[in-house]
Amino acid sequence: MSELNLILIGPPGAGKGTQAERITQDFRLAYISTGDEMRAAKETDEDVRRYVDAGELVPDDIVCKVLFKRMDAEGDDGFILDGFPRTRPQADVLNEALERRGRRLTAALLIEVDDEVIVQRLAGRRVCKNGHPYHVDYNRPKHDGVCDIDGLPLVQREDDQPDTIRKRLRVYHEQTEPIVDHLDDQGVLRRFDGTRPPGEVHDHIRATLATLRLEDQL
Ligand code: ADP
Ligand code: AMP
Repeated sequence: MSELNLILIGPPGAGKGTQAERITQDFRLAYISTGDEMRAAKETDEDVRRYVDAGELVPDDIVCKVLFKRMDAEGDDGFILDGFPRTRPQADVLNEALERRGRRLTAALLIEVDDEVIVQRLAGRRVCKNGHPYHVDYNRPKHDGVCDIDGLPLVQREDDQPDTIRKRLRVYHEQTEPIVDHLDDQGVLRRFDGTRPPGEVHDHIRATLATLRLEDQL
């Protein structure tokens, strides 16, 4: 069976990490989040810290280097990329890198949510150190303040403050949204309504991926 090579795209807080966790389990894919990678990198790299904490994009060359190192370490059983590509140059570099490795993008899953919903959602997001996302109202852990998966304490991300959230939304509309049309032209774009409850969004994505796999086998 051919591999599923997926990217998740959408504004910050659309639910990409939440869906990635579920899809990874459904299809046993390698999960690579450039946001998680950059949060790890900022612990030792002051430049990366400044960009991430300000809600700005880390320069393409830094993100690409980290990403391709991870992709090569993961092997070729299929992947789900969360938070990459975020600029047109990143999209081009990804295509070239996949081509060089004899692979191709199966689908780009776009999760759509309006800005006002995002601002309210991200104020209630809580994450553990490994990046597993929860919400104080919409996606509560079994025990308050503790991650279901690894038992670590849940905290608020530094960039989930109202001003930084608005900044990240501006960056998304200016730098990332333009690549949606490009992905559509490539014929890989699939759109999902991210305002539906997490389980419903997941059902829609799973059904789409199951169909894509069947079509691939025909
Ligand atoms: P992203 O990875 O796109 O930044 P997350 O998956 O971290 O987004 O989700 C952002 C916040 O919204 C989290 O607190 C998460 O629990 C919550 N969330 C995710 N999907 C939904 C949904 N469909 N409806 C309501 N809240 C959601
Ligand atoms: P995320 O967890 O996806 O919301 O990403 C958090 C932060 O990491 C972003 O605001 C950026 O500063 C940085 N980042 C993540 N992915 C990328 C990317 N593809 N390009 C540039 N910066 C990124």
